[in-house]
Amino acid sequence: MINAIAQNLKITRERIVAAEKRAARMPGSVELLAVSKKWSAEVIAEAAAAGQLAFGENRVQELVAKVPVLAPDLRWHLIGHLQKNKVKKVLPLVGDIHSIDSLSVLRAVDREAGKIGVRRRIFLQVNIGEDPAKHGFQAEELAENGVLEACDGLENLDLAGLMTIPPFSETAEGARRYFAALRELRDKVTARTGTALPGLSMGMSGDYEVAIEEGATVVRVGSSIFGQRPR
Ligand SMILES: *Cc1c(COP(=O)(O)O)cnc(C)c1O
Repeated sequence: MINAIAQNLKITRERIVAAEKRAARMPGSVELLAVSKKWSAEVIAEAAAAGQLAFGENRVQELVAKVPVLAPDLRWHLIGHLQKNKVKKVLPLVGDIHSIDSLSVLRAVDREAGKIGVRRRIFLQVNIGEDPAKHGFQAEELAENGVLEACDGLENLDLAGLMTIPPFSETAEGARRYFAALRELRDKVTARTGTALPGLSMGMSGDYEVAIEEGATVVRVGSSIFGQRPR
């Protein structure tokens, strides 16, 4: 008997492979990040036992509690808003930060990584739907003023690419134009600055297949793997 989490992971991986095929993408080109926020270390260990090693969390407090009690081969990504006063705490715990949403946080993360002697991979979060309730750079900010130029000066960070959380849509297809917009913004910014931004972190449980069709390289999937989050 395989358990529900193992079964859900298997189905999710199969759907990722099918979406890669449909989009004529290389098999294995999309990374599955299991979003484990609100779930206990025991539940996360079940996913790890089923071969899932990369996990996304949105709160520094949860990372502080979970990372030390789980296997050292797990890889942790921060996907939620990062306050400057939490940079020191989170940097030893995560390999990737998807939610860099201001130049001041970007610089603080670079400085702290230098101080503790680590390299980290980062994504710039873009508020592609211009949703006032969401964090992130505005698309014009990235296209026009010096954000990418500031990234050229980073010493301890590898700029992977862009991340977005689109506005809520009733259907997966409703999110497609936002995913396409992030890819187009990436292409435009790369053409203007010459900065490669190969990574696109986009797509969640309801719409990750559409995101893959539009170029996602990392999908952040929670409830399709773990079920509905506890409150
Ligand atoms: C919670 C969360 C997800 C996962 O959402 P699901 O709908 O459960 O897949 C993905 N990305 C971010 C930034 C999140 O906060």
